[in-house]
Amino acid sequence: SALEKSLVYAAAGERLSTVVRFTIDNSLSGLEFAAGIPGTLGGAIAMNAGTKNQDMSGIIADLLILDQTNLTLQTLERKDLEFSYRHLELPGIIISATLALKPADRTRIEQTVKQNLLYKNSTQPVAAASAGCFFKNPPKGMPAGELIEKSGLKGMKINGAMVSQIHANYIINTGDATCGDILSLKKHIEKTVFNTYKVKLETEVRVEGE
Ligand SMILES: Cc1cc2nc3c(=O)[nH]c(=O)nc-3n(C[C@H](O)[C@H](O)[C@H](O)COP(=O)(O)OP(=O)(O)OC[C@H]3O[C@@H](n4cnc5c(N)ncnc54)[C@H](O)[C@@H]3O)c2cc1C
Repeated sequence: SALEKSLVYAAAGERLSTVVRFTIDNSLSGLEFAAGIPGTLGGAIAMNAGTKNQDMSGIIADLLILDQTNLTLQTLERKDLEFSYRHLELPGIIISATLALKPADRTRIEQTVKQNLLYKNSTQPVAAASAGCFFKNPPKGMPAGELIEKSGLKGMKINGAMVSQIHANYIINTGDATCGDILSLKKHIEKTVFNTYKVKLETEVRVEGE
């Protein structure tokens, strides 16, 4: 009910980490899962960013959307938004969002955020240059990282682009990788995983102008 929820209104261009910090400071629970995910609030919503168990779809109350063609604004309620795995059907640009969170004990929220960050930092190459997880996890069976690792691709390099040694679903730029190097490595991964496991990987990273 409205009494149990607390609403946070934020601009889409706000950094997600700033919004997470704000919710901690105001003892609001719900966004702990987003700690450590880089980018803006709008980007996180547009990508339905999240972790294994939670994503942005779970905390959105409504979005203010700009239609680029007619330059009109409309508010879309959660029930009118089609979220799916790392995807949101969008009729325009997100200008701002209302998040539905729950009042909770600040110390507990902070502890959860710390645990999440610790887990992320120890299992993902967060310090390296990357675009995050490159492929979506298939709907069933092994997650993408495991498929890539078990196909023997950890550490595989094409010029400066490399399959991370820490988490095989990350393609990292070791210094001088070009976009072409990263896309060549992506194709090599897709081919090898398909030949090994007959699984067609789909990218989570959006590739523009390929
Ligand atoms: C080290 C690392 C770790 C990561 N970990 C995770 C993770 O754990 N979980 C996860 O889900 N992702 C993760 N990511 C991926 C990335 O952080 C998210 O996809 C991020 O939320 C994208 O936000 P951005 O602001 O960078 O958007 P961009 O990358 O700039 O844009 C992403 C897409 O959203 C669209 N978009 C952006 N803003 C708006 C807007 N206001 N209105 C409409 N469309 C918009 C863009 O057009 C584009 O199609 C990680 C990335 C890195 C580098």
